[in-house]
Amino acid sequence: MAILGIETSCDETGVALYDARRGLLAHRLYSQVALHAEYGGVVPELASRDHVRKLWPLVDECLAEAGMSRPDISGVAYTAGPGLVGALLVGAAAGRAMAWALGVPAVGVHHMEGHLLAPLLEADPPEPPFVALLVSGGHTQLMQVDAIGCYRLLGQTLDDAAGEAFDKTAKMMGLPYPGGPELARIAERGVAGRFRFSRPMTDRPGLDFSFSGLKTQVLLAWQDSDQSGQTRCDIARAFQEAVVETLAIKSERALRDSGARTLVVAGGVGANLDLRARLAALSERTGVRVCFPRPAFCTDNGAMIAFAGALRISAGQHEPEAIGVHPRWDMATLPAL
Ligand code: ATP
Ligand code: MG
Ligand code: FE
Repeated sequence: MAILGIETSCDETGVALYDARRGLLAHRLYSQVALHAEYGGVVPELASRDHVRKLWPLVDECLAEAGMSRPDISGVAYTAGPGLVGALLVGAAAGRAMAWALGVPAVGVHHMEGHLLAPLLEADPPEPPFVALLVSGGHTQLMQVDAIGCYRLLGQTLDDAAGEAFDKTAKMMGLPYPGGPELARIAERGVAGRFRFSRPMTDRPGLDFSFSGLKTQVLLAWQDSDQSGQTRCDIARAFQEAVVETLAIKSERALRDSGARTLVVAGGVGANLDLRARLAALSERTGVRVCFPRPAFCTDNGAMIAFAGALRISAGQHEPEAIGVHPRWDMATLPAL
């Protein structure tokens, strides 16, 4: 039962082979960061074209690594949304065509369900019910997960996503594209306590977030400062602390409200070391289990899509023989397994 997973929702081409019995057999990732760097952001049409160029070679590399050939593939999973429509269509068309040629089922996977399930690829996987904190470049959501496929939104950002706030703040302070991970890196050298930013919306009830005001606070602090290298690190540290503490406070609140004893964290910001440490401390203090994917599976990858697709295909789900994508897609509308 080897399932081929294809991820092309944005600017990384991810491919993987997952087998329900043997686990992850192979995975490959190609990042288009260098292609988009000169524009300071993802250019959708360039992204689509590069997926076309990179996808099949990555599929062949995965098959070679797993010691398999195309007829050994028993199902295909591709990201069907949300994401850039042209980029999604490349993966959907390739995945659908491959499945049709091989006479195997294909399933369109929700990108955020892929992120959410990535921690389940690790040893001793958590089991529902749990609360999921999804923190990526386009989303910041707290989800109640009663079963795989049954997702209830508890709260979300009203403006910028956490990763987007990292990226935009980095850009404001002149860090190279893509700024988020670089901002986290320089925050390590920052002096604690020199700057302090607010923890937005933690002083009122509810589980929604807002990160756009924080970005403005940082801009004003940066403009008012000497703009030295050390100041940049100090501001980065204070910004990261504000985001991380806000995420931790709301996650703890969601756990308390739901009564769940497990928190699952996923999405690119899940790779943040400060967030991992802060939630590990929460786990120590409260006894709640906190599960992360390995850092490489926090950001976009094919493994999470192969895994989510394998679960859905094993449950007998598959798509009609047509190519369809959903650039916007509400996770609460997904069928249960
Ligand atoms: P979405 O999944 O919502 O469609 P996306 O696919 O672009 O968005 P991901 O690939 O999950 O998002 O994650 C990328 C985001 O994670 C970027 O915004 C990036 O800045 C952020 N990110 C990656 N590493 C770190 C880190 N170490 N600290 C903070 N943010 C990080
Ligand atoms: Mg990306
Ligand atoms: Fe993503």
